[in-house]
Amino acid sequence: MSKYFSRKPGELKAYVPGEQPRNVQQLIKLNTNESPLPPAPEVIDAVAAAAQKANLYCDPTMFKLREDLASIYGYTPDHFTLGNGSDELLSFAFLAFCNKEIGVAYADITYGFYSVLSRLYATDTKIIPLDAQYCINPYDYSALGRTIFIANPNAPTGIALTRAQIEGVLQANPDNVVVIDQAYVDFGAECAIPLVKKYDNLLVINTFSKSRSFAGGRVGFAVAQPELIANLETIRNSINPYNVNSLSQAAAHAILQHNDYYMQNCSVIAQNRAYLTKQLDALGFTTLPSMTNFVFTRHPAISGEQLYLQLKQRAILVRYFDSPRLRDFCRITIGTREQVDALLDAIRSIL
Ligand SMILES: *Cc1c(COP(=O)(O)O)cnc(C)c1O
Repeated sequence: MSKYFSRKPGELKAYVPGEQPRNVQQLIKLNTNESPLPPAPEVIDAVAAAAQKANLYCDPTMFKLREDLASIYGYTPDHFTLGNGSDELLSFAFLAFCNKEIGVAYADITYGFYSVLSRLYATDTKIIPLDAQYCINPYDYSALGRTIFIANPNAPTGIALTRAQIEGVLQANPDNVVVIDQAYVDFGAECAIPLVKKYDNLLVINTFSKSRSFAGGRVGFAVAQPELIANLETIRNSINPYNVNSLSQAAAHAILQHNDYYMQNCSVIAQNRAYLTKQLDALGFTTLPSMTNFVFTRHPAISGEQLYLQLKQRAILVRYFDSPRLRDFCRITIGTREQVDALLDAIRSIL
């Protein structure tokens, strides 16, 4: 650390992304919940066309995308804004809806970025443990007097709350913002966006990184009533009004026009998830009920770290978490059927 750094030692704890190795061709990469399926060809064409005009700034209002989203979800464009990935929108949400007085609450086991942001922005934090089944208990989220962040489905468990349970949390916290981070919603969970019309304290954050095969393009979108969106816009325009670049805006527009392709891909992933879960069951694994494009699974004979290391030796990357409640588990992204079969062969040889 240089003597010029404005932060104290230990004050921040930066997010550690899953490994992104350079030799991906030789690897089966099942560690960061990307889609194994490519973008639609029209998306690639749209990026190439947009590159021709990359000398010009992008549209800082992202109007075309907000119109696309408006027609898909049945709200006016002022219900939407977009981010450079949903991570950026989570950061904007912290800046807009948390401060010294307004604290934050989230689960002990959830998306790692919430704790990174709460430290970065020095937010008073209440951690709410998952229950013994690794579920969020919505009754633990009553009248908290804080901004609430819930990943739904949750990560890395894969378990989802129903829309009715989310509605219960919204009703139990009428004076606080409830952020529903639904990065994995397209793989089978109930979407919270229809609740936006009824609840002025709901902010739904979505990403194109998982179900839309666009993790590298960095696009996320937020949905809420116009007053909340205006607050996020104030933050966004105070940091980076050109946050979603023109190539990504063009790609996102093409992605929204080819929804059928992506929803078809999601159903392939859901089928592969069911197949993998069944095969893991037969091998003695216990797998949490996933509504996502990954499974969180454990085996009595091998720790998460050992399974991770042994699979890595066989050129398959998965992820494990070195914390007390998670140590037994591996998180495995759902790949193509061929990747799933290669993974299963490797696991059989390890066991
Ligand atoms: C992957 C993920 C994100 C971040 O997605 P980006 O849009 O790529 O920044 C946010 N929340 C959860 C729960 C995720 O798993």
